[in-house]
This record gives sequence, C-alpha cells and structure tokens, in this order.
Amino acid sequence: MNKYIAIMCTVTLLASTACTEQKKDNFQYRSDRFADLEILNYKVPGFEDLTLQQKTLVYYLSEAGLWGRDILFDQNCRYNLLVRHTLEAIYQHAALEHSGNEWDAMVTYLKRVWVSNGIHHHYACDKFQPSFTEDFLKSAIAATPAEFLPMPADELFQTLQPVIFDPTFLAKRVNQAAGEDLLLTSAENYYFNVSQKEAEDFYAAMADPNDPQPISLGLNSRLVKNKNGLLEEEVYKVGGRYSEAIEHIIYWLEKAINVAENDAQKATIAKLIEYYRNGDLRTFDEYNVLWVQDLSSQVDFVNGFIENYGDPIGLKSSWESSINFKNTEASARTEIISANAQWFEDHAPIDPRFRKEKVKGVSAKVINVAMLGGDCYPTTPIGINLPNADWIRRDYGSKSVTIDNISEAYDKAAQGNGSAQEFMWSEKEIKLSQAYGYLASNLHTDLHECLGHGSGQLLPGTDPNALGSYSSVMEEARADLFALYFLGDEKLVELGLLPDKDAYKASYYQQMMNGAMTQLRRIELGKDIEEAHMRNRALIANWVLKNGGPKVAELTVRDGKTYLVIHDYKALRDCFGQLLAEIQRCKSEGDFQAAQNLVETYAVKIDQNLHKEVIERYAKLNIAPYGGFINPILTPVTDADGNITDIQISYGEPYDTQHLRYSTQYSALPLNPATGLYN
Ligand code: ZN
Repeated sequence: MNKYIAIMCTVTLLASTACTEQKKDNFQYRSDRFADLEILNYKVPGFEDLTLQQKTLVYYLSEAGLWGRDILFDQNCRYNLLVRHTLEAIYQHAALEHSGNEWDAMVTYLKRVWVSNGIHHHYACDKFQPSFTEDFLKSAIAATPAEFLPMPADELFQTLQPVIFDPTFLAKRVNQAAGEDLLLTSAENYYFNVSQKEAEDFYAAMADPNDPQPISLGLNSRLVKNKNGLLEEEVYKVGGRYSEAIEHIIYWLEKAINVAENDAQKATIAKLIEYYRNGDLRTFDEYNVLWVQDLSSQVDFVNGFIENYGDPIGLKSSWESSINFKNTEASARTEIISANAQWFEDHAPIDPRFRKEKVKGVSAKVINVAMLGGDCYPTTPIGINLPNADWIRRDYGSKSVTIDNISEAYDKAAQGNGSAQEFMWSEKEIKLSQAYGYLASNLHTDLHECLGHGSGQLLPGTDPNALGSYSSVMEEARADLFALYFLGDEKLVELGLLPDKDAYKASYYQQMMNGAMTQLRRIELGKDIEEAHMRNRALIANWVLKNGGPKVAELTVRDGKTYLVIHDYKALRDCFGQLLAEIQRCKSEGDFQAAQNLVETYAVKIDQNLHKEVIERYAKLNIAPYGGFINPILTPVTDADGNITDIQISYGEPYDTQHLRYSTQYSALPLNPATGLYN
C-alpha cells in the first residue's frame, strides 16, 4: 500500500556514532541498560521559557497523552495487559527473595514488556523468550497476595503459561510473510477470529472508489466475528471499545481547550473531542484538516489512532501521543529549506521530466517533545510527517517535524561510547564527526523529511503502486539520496545551513559506514536485512562501493579489522546523484524489474564474515542497538485557591518507577477476572 510506505515515514536514528564537542553538561542521559536496550532521559530545553498558559496547555495535553497507555498494550496483543499487571504485582508484592538469576530474568522480561508495550519485540515483532522457568512463575504468583493479582492464581498461571512460554503461540505480532494468512498468523489485536480474505472483502465492500475525499476505512476499530458468524466493527470511541480510557483523554482535552493558544487550536482540540465521541472517520478527517492548518501555535500535539504499522494489512492504527512545542531557533533551519524548496527541486540531478514544476507548500519545523505516550513511548521517532490521508496531503499539505531534543539525547548518550574510535578509519573522520556530525545529521533528517519525500513526480499513467513490495525501500532511498546530494551542495553554505564546505563530509562518512557496516549490529547473524530504512541505507552504501569503485570509497582491512575509507568526497556526491536519478526513474516510470534488481542485489543479503565481525566488535563496546526514553515529570504548582501558578518540570525518575506509577495512575482498562482479558 502506498500510504503505508512513503507517507508514513518515521525516521528512527539507527546509529548514533556522531558526536558533538563534549560540553559541560551534568544532565544524566543514560539511565538503564538491559537486553538489547538502553534507556535514556531526554531534556526539554525551552520549557521554562514558555508562558504559564503554554506550560499549562502542555501539562493538560500530557495528561491526555498518558491516559492512552493501556489502549496500545491491548491493541498489540490481547494478553499484554494481563502479563503486565501480573508481573508488576509480583515485582512489587511477591513474598519471595527479590534476587537471583530467575528473579533477575523476570525483571528483565518485565522491563522488555514495558519497552515494547507488550510481549513482542517493538522492532522485530517476535515474541521474546523468557529466561525464567515455568516453576518460578508459578511460585512467584503463589507468593503474591491475591488482592494484587488480576485473576485467581491457578487460572492465572494456566492462562499465562502458553502466552509467555510457548514459542509457537502468538509467535509474531505482525506477520508479513507473503503467502500466509497475515491476520490469522499475527498476534495483534486489531482483528479477532477474522481471516485476511474476510477482512479485505469486508472493507472492499465499504470503499467508495468515486469519493474524492475517502475516509481511512477501518482505522479506529477492532474487527471481530460475532456469535452469528457476522463481521462487526468495535469502534474505538465513547461508549465503544476503549471508552474507559477515551473518557479520561477527553477530560484532559477539554481542560486544554480553555488554555489553548488561539481560536484555531481551540477548534482543533474541540474537533478531536467530537471525533472521540462519535467515532466517525469523517470527523477525524475534519480534525486533521484543522490540525494541519494550525501553523501559528507554538505548542502542538499528536493524539489518537494514527499509524498503521501494527496492522499486517495496514488499515488499523495504534494509539499514540506526542506533546511538543516549536524550537524557534532551530526552526529557522527548516524554514530556510521550505522557502527554497523550488530551488532544490529545479536542481535535483534527475531527468527534468520527473521534476515537479511547482512544489506545494511544505510546512516544516523543529520541535522539542515534552511528553511521549502510546506508540511514541518509550521508543520514539526523531522525525514525523502527518497527517496520513492522501487527499488531505494533496489539498492541504502536511506537517513535517524534526524532533531536536530526542536526537540530542541519542547523540549525548553516544558520546564517548567508543564506537567512533572502533569503527572510524582515522582521527580525521573522528574529528569531522565531532565537529559537524550532529548538525549534519539533523540537516539530513530535515532534507529527507521536508523535501526528499515530497520531491519528483510520476509520469502520467504510472501506477503509484507499481513498485509493489519494493516501493517502501525505494522511497526511503530516494528521500535519503535527495538529502545526501544536497548536503554536499555549496548552496547549503550559502544559505547559512552549514558552516563551511567540509561539514557535509561528516554526514557522508556516517551514511556510508552505517549502510555498509555498523547497522548490521541490529541484525541477528544469518538473517537478511528486512526493515525498509535499513535496506535503503545498505542499498546506497553497497551500490556506491560497487559502482563508484575503490577510487571513490572502499572497505579496507587494517590489523584484522574492516574500515570504510572515503577517498573522493566530490565523486561520492556524484554517485549519490546518479543513484538518485536511477531510483527516481524507477519510481516515475514504475519500473518494477529494475527496482527489484537494485534492492535484491544491494540491500538484502549480508556478507557473513563482515556481519560476524561487526557484531563481535560491538559486543566488546557493550552498546545497545535500541534506545527507549523516560518522560520528564510535569507537576502543577497551585495557590491557595487552587489556581495553577506554574508547571514544574523534573527529570531522572527511574525507569521502573515511571512505569509502575503509570500503571497505578493511568490504568484505564479493566480486565475480566474470569478470562484475564479486557472485554
Ligand atoms: Zn523517510
């Protein structure tokens, strides 16, 4: 699906070996480390400078954003809430030794459940395997007072046994294997007892191909087979599924209306409330039209059922929230880019027939997030581009944001972790990265999000879905190459976006090293590259190494270790331009065969020796492949009459404390003590 691919691009920072000069900064970015994860704190610069009204708005929206947490757990798999409640009860109340291998293994498992909002890996979607035994779980449940358990101890263990221990039961949250029934083989909870064909037929019958403003069918509901064998949508709304959580969300949104920055924002929030009440997807589109046009408010938010990555057939959306405000200083950067969008389009190194004659309004800004919720917590993207409905993007445009303080936290946490010294060729590359890496990589994200995806056009008559399952990789590569090509253009220095003519080299080296080598650390030995952004990076790096040849760049072995060396940055830029031209041609002409060739040749298979080497070198550094975040705490200060006089922000809450607090304060969805399930 086209929508699934290009438009919903959320970029995650894959390899943060870039580092800026070490500044005096006592803020503790690194907080917790377990399994394949590192948990970080993020700072919210500029929060104190907001007005009291804006801070209060952020606070109310944050409360609304935290009340949806249970929804996502239930959407990801119907047993997730039961697992979480049970393990949290054991963690806090079990009368047994809180130490030893089995205990530690259970705590790690619980922490992973918190990260993934359920029992499946947040990125790979596989169910993770526990390192504690069934006997341990049984005795831990028995040692926990019944009042804290979600159902009677015996039934609880019987229910959880296959959920946690049977590797074949609910094995994959989102199964994408072609040829299988993707719904019956996936553990997500957007469908129950419904085959892929039944679901596809159900929504095909509802679709109106002549509607110029089609709604996002199926977006906000669970599809189930009722007892008469008929398909039925359980709509997420007041009085429908997840009503208990949605009512709390509305409560805080109503408060937010009273402190909104302007009438446009008031109307936007009011429309969102209306949609939560009626569950009507036309109302949702009306909300999105208002939201995308509100460009003057400094505080902004995402709140709702937004992205469909969790649905194997890409219709239903997970609940997420992000509360943020504009970083005015850094936004000057994206405003310059937007203002020059047409210049970039006119100078793209592609066949002029594939260029857009008129680039439509691109609204882009740099933001700092103040609170993350649902599918944005605790793992979060560093760039977002919304809304997703094609017709709204066509008629009203989209908002593109780069999240500065999250990138900063990744960057700061990576400082001094040794990866640059281990993998970069020489002191020259390390220095380059220290001086420009952070700036250049942010600029890369800006160019990718606000220009790259929007650039170019299809030839008349080309099917937008012609590249099929390769379209996602090709689209990401196109956006990345657009960004890379222009990073090396002197225009960026002229526009004041880069300080000098060498700065772009930091990004080039980073991109090539990551695509050819270091990103492999996230993949299990023996497996292929699957994820679209990773395939895109491999495609670019491997294509250049092969077609540019060793005069441009090469992998070289020194003292038994492989390094990337770039010999000619100018020629490298030309290579990026050539590959962009070819990928744009594939897209504009719908050349499936050529796209398949490119991806299968350069982006899927991994050199086993290199893969093994990268994993071993990283293992010595003990760097986690994935990162998650801890939210700050927002606390209202009130006067004697109960009026809010300030919102204080504090940091450093321990990871487990935060989740246990959220489970106490924002536990919205009741579990049935007979089944252990919500509803
Ligand atoms: Zn993208």
